[in-house]
Amino acid sequence: MVKQAVKVVVRARPTANFASKNIKIDPLTGTIALNIDKKDEGTVNNQLDSWKFKFDKILQNSSQDEVYEAAAQETVQSVVQGYNGTILCYGQTGAGKTFTMTGSSTNFSYRGVIPRAISQVFREVGNKFDQAITIRMFDLLSPIPTHEQQASHLQIQDDSRGGVAIKNLSMIVCNQEEDALNQLFEGDMNRTVSEHQLNKASSRSHCVFTIHIESRSRVESSDKVLFSKLHLVDLAGSERTKKTGSSGITLKEATFINKSLSFLEQVVIALCDKSRDHVPYRQSKLTNLLRDSLGGNCKTLMIANIWPEPTHLEETVSTLKFATRMM
Ligand code: ADP
Ligand code: MG
Repeated sequence: MVKQAVKVVVRARPTANFASKNIKIDPLTGTIALNIDKKDEGTVNNQLDSWKFKFDKILQNSSQDEVYEAAAQETVQSVVQGYNGTILCYGQTGAGKTFTMTGSSTNFSYRGVIPRAISQVFREVGNKFDQAITIRMFDLLSPIPTHEQQASHLQIQDDSRGGVAIKNLSMIVCNQEEDALNQLFEGDMNRTVSEHQLNKASSRSHCVFTIHIESRSRVESSDKVLFSKLHLVDLAGSERTKKTGSSGITLKEATFINKSLSFLEQVVIALCDKSRDHVPYRQSKLTNLLRDSLGGNCKTLMIANIWPEPTHLEETVSTLKFATRMM
């Protein structure tokens, strides 16, 4: 039996132009069936490429609240209990990754996974009277570069505990929920100032927001400290290189992004395969950063965001294929 290293949930964004003829989503059975009409590609006969996928969970027309409860809550809880965890959003540009991860800063009910995770961490930590807990966040909303020009800007190192440390990044200690939310709001302020720029950046780069939890026992007089962390990752747009024009990503960037996403895939596949003892974490900055928070005892959740419109059928198939390989 292959151990599932990553839990995968599919979220379909709402769309005005729903392609009911070519895509059938059934959240009850967890299946998605797609037909891609190939007649536009010069074929004489009207050929159909048909695909069928099955997942544990498909969320369609789900509120932010439902998405959090159905997908993220469990991961966040295990991080509070001392495990490392990672939540990733994967999908083409426009599919709803940033909406899912960050959501709206002005409409409270539209807030995404990050602010909700912050709330949950503080709420659950507040219930643990026997432990003193420090929460640190390092805000990598300034994105991890996936392209060449900036490749040396963040340095990832091993820390003294066998984990990952990042050079040139200060951590912010947050003693209360408000401090943590302010961290996020600062990022949001920059976002409103230059929404277009950030949108472009978020399509081009992997954005990582990390919550660190450090807990010491107040009861025992030992120096034992328990560390855990939660990475919240808004991955770069997964669109294939031929579609890059429409999403503002250059061909060169797209090539780097695709490579970086395929390194992530290779890591997850290696984690699922018990016969392999080598996991190729060191191939990219992203997998290097996540290496102590994926697989093993860690809780990893991937939200595959899809955009079920006729024009995006091929991207949807490609996202669902990627998501299937992660399971
Ligand atoms: P991505 O980060 O994958 O490129 P975005 O999160 O920026 O995509 O979403 C693209 C647009 O669609 C945004 O305007 C966003 O607010 C909207 N959107 C995405 N998903 C949803 C949803 N589930 N409900 C309402 N609006 C959504
Ligand atoms: Mg985005």
